[in-house]
Amino acid sequence: MADCIFCRIAGKEIPSQVVYEDDAILAFNDINPQAPVHVLFIPKEHIASLAETEDRHRDLLGRMLLAVRRVAEDRGLGQGYRVVNNCGSQGGQTVNHLHVHLLGGRSMQWPPG
Ligand code: AMP
Ligand code: ZN
Repeated sequence: MADCIFCRIAGKEIPSQVVYEDDAILAFNDINPQAPVHVLFIPKEHIASLAETEDRHRDLLGRMLLAVRRVAEDRGLGQGYRVVNNCGSQGGQTVNHLHVHLLGGRSMQWPPG
């Protein structure tokens, strides 16, 4: 989708600090980090949100979480981390291309706002 900022990042039209990439997934540093480690994981395929996923995305969704674990290990987050998906307007989603946040390097609070 030409007007989707994360599609443009996936297509390397917009630069990002890539921390992980494979044929289906790109991970890059969040431009407005909320923790010492704040990485976004996106499918290269445009999927608007978790609510738009289908059974055919099972492998992709599993691979996204395994990529999160790999980056968390690489970044030394052995004391723990948080994985977030904001879905839809009430979920706080601001970019309508599915993404998972990896946040780490500080203690997290619960409940979220
Ligand atoms: P969400 O609120 O869950 O939709 O998260 C969207 C995230 O994308 C926010 O944390 C933004 O800081 C981040 N973001 C927006 N534009 C960019 C960009 N060009 N590069 C990296 N991160 C971005
Ligand atoms: Zn997109």
